[in-house]
Amino acid sequence: MKRIATLLFATLTALSACHASPKPSPPKPANAMSNATHPQNPYYSRTDTTKLDLPNEVWKKVLSPELYRVARLGETERAFTGKYWNYEGLGTYYCAACGNALFRSDAKFASTCGWPSFFETVRPGSVRYRDDTTYGMIRTEVLCGRCDAHLGHVFDDGPPPTGKRFCMNSISLEFEPDRK
Ligand code: FE
Repeated sequence: MKRIATLLFATLTALSACHASPKPSPPKPANAMSNATHPQNPYYSRTDTTKLDLPNEVWKKVLSPELYRVARLGETERAFTGKYWNYEGLGTYYCAACGNALFRSDAKFASTCGWPSFFETVRPGSVRYRDDTTYGMIRTEVLCGRCDAHLGHVFDDGPPPTGKRFCMNSISLEFEPDRK
């Protein structure tokens, strides 16, 4: 009798332990990186520069509709409507889609075009370029070097020392102030 009671106790203990065990977490998508500040976007990272090659169906699930339309469909926000066109804070601008560092505030200049403008990127590989012949114009499109998000265009009418004007969509950027 005592043996049966011991067996029963052991079985019940095992069963309750089984119920108490935590549920397995869902698998992360390929190339996923956890980021506490962007829980809805597992691909966002300010430290990982690994190239991301994801289809738009994936981006559509993790970006806001407004950012998706600009970053993945190449739309342009209306001039003088974005949050950074006349912003003068000191810090770094990151890709809003993936967290890749793009520009420093000391490369930003006051532009009358209505979009945030910079004369150079934070490092050569932070962006990549593509010919854009839409709307009857010949322009150079600027894409994020990590995730290929559409950022804007670059023109040759910028100030010294580069003479470049990186004309960006505010919504594609995310500003982080310098720590004092
Ligand atoms: Fe990006």
